[in-house]
Amino acid sequence: MKKKVLLWILILIGLLILAASLFFLNLRMGMKSMSPVPTGRVAEGVYAIQDDGVNCFVIRGDSGLVMIDTGTNPDHVRKEFESLGMNPKQVKAVFLTHSDWDHANGAPLFAHAPLYISSAELPLLTGKKSRFAFLKAPFKYAYRTFEPNASFEIGGMFIQTIPAPGHTPGSTCFLVNDVYLFTGDLLSLKTGRVGLFFKTFNMDSDREEESIRDLASKIQNVRILFSAHYGYTDRVKEAFAGYMENDR
Ligand SMILES: [Zn+2]
Repeated sequence: MKKKVLLWILILIGLLILAASLFFLNLRMGMKSMSPVPTGRVAEGVYAIQDDGVNCFVIRGDSGLVMIDTGTNPDHVRKEFESLGMNPKQVKAVFLTHSDWDHANGAPLFAHAPLYISSAELPLLTGKKSRFAFLKAPFKYAYRTFEPNASFEIGGMFIQTIPAPGHTPGSTCFLVNDVYLFTGDLLSLKTGRVGLFFKTFNMDSDREEESIRDLASKIQNVRILFSAHYGYTDRVKEAFAGYMENDR
C-alpha cells in the first residue's frame, strides 16, 4: 500500500515538472519570436527606446514630449533617453497601454508628469484582480485614469485613446495626431502581419481578437503602427489583411 502511494506521488511530481517545463519552453519561444527595435528615431517626431525585450516611445510635439509606456528599468531608460539628446524632464505626460511591469516600471523616471491609464485597468491596479497567480500586487505608481475613447491635447499633440481589452482589461491603443497608432500588447506583428499577441500572456485572447477587428475599422488615416514588442510598420492596411470587415 505504502509503495503505491509513493508511486503516485512520484508520478504527480513528474507531471508537475513536465507541465512547468512545457510552460517555460512556451514562454521562451514566445519571447524569442519578439522583435523590439533598437533605440533611435523611428518616424518624424517619434523615437523608440529599447529596454530588454520591450519598446517604449517618446513623441515630440510643438511644446513638449509625451511618453507611450515607460520600459522596465528607469536607469536604463534614462541612459537611452539621453543618448537621443533629450531630457526626461521635458516629458509632459505618460500614457500607459496597460499596467504590466515591462511597460510601467520605468515610471519613476517621469514622476514629475501625470501618468494616465484606462479606468478599465482598475481591478489590476488596485490588486483586486490578479494578472497571474504569482503577480498580484497593487500598482506602485501614482496614476490618473481616463475613460474609454478619451482625448487629450498635450505638448502640442492630439491624443485619442482607443479601448483594446484582451491582453488586460484596460489595454488601450493611442492614436496621435490621427496618424501614429501605438498598440502596446494588443497584437503581434510578424512578417508585417497583425496577429494575436503571445497567448500565454493574454488574460482573454478571444476578447483581444475582437479588439483587433474593432481597431481594423479605425485605421483609415493611420500612417504608422507601433507595437511594444514587435517593431512597427507603415504598411498598416496590408498588416490588418485578414482582420478587415470584408475579410470575415
Ligand atoms: Zn509587454
